[in-house]
Amino acid sequence: MSGYCSNCGNALPPMARFCSSCGAVVSGAPPAGFPPFGFPPQAPRLVRPLFGRQFAGVCAGLAKAYGWDVATVRILAVVGGIFLCPVVEVLYVACWIGMPEEPIGEMQQPQQF
Ligand SMILES: [Zn+2]
Repeated sequence: MSGYCSNCGNALPPMARFCSSCGAVVSGAPPAGFPPFGFPPQAPRLVRPLFGRQFAGVCAGLAKAYGWDVATVRILAVVGGIFLCPVVEVLYVACWIGMPEEPIGEMQQPQQF
């Protein structure tokens, strides 16, 4: 998927996220769930999408930013909200406040969830 390092031209194995020769971050690499130390990655953009939200868009935004399944995130949020009350509720409100809405100009087409 990557091909060659854009920094030094070294050939890269498929799915490589860093160049083995110069250590440069390979652009277009698949997103990592957790960034390795020493390479501050571009953080996943946490925004609350305008489409595909059920309530405030926190679950949809988290799922979108980290590549998770939206339905799974919502089920975990609801189940966690029941059994871990009020931990999930507080986190949800904190995310609601902390996550900006998706900018109008970057709206994506409505998706079926
Ligand atoms: Zn390189």
